[in-house]
Amino acid sequence: MPIKIDYKKCCWKNGKCSSCGCGGACNGCVEVCPVNALKRGKKVEYKESECISCGACVSACKHDAIELI
Ligand code: SF4
Ligand code: SF4
Repeated sequence: MPIKIDYKKCCWKNGKCSSCGCGGACNGCVEVCPVNALKRGKKVEYKESECISCGACVSACKHDAIELI
């Protein structure tokens, strides 16, 4: 089961944090993903083929921007 990212809620826009000031110290979805399926580019990029549906990113996101679908 893959995840869905709500880019309206996600703070990471155009390669930087737009609201909460997490910057490189953010302990969010990218940091907790055990298989590196997420990375911060211009937006948070998700590689579905790597995802093991663990749900860690959903819990880690402080902006409720990720859900398991
Ligand atoms: S559900 Fe787990 S494996 Fe998939 S992107 Fe989120 S943290 Fe990574
Ligand atoms: S933890 Fe949430 S708000 Fe932070 S980069 Fe990931 S999806 Fe965006």
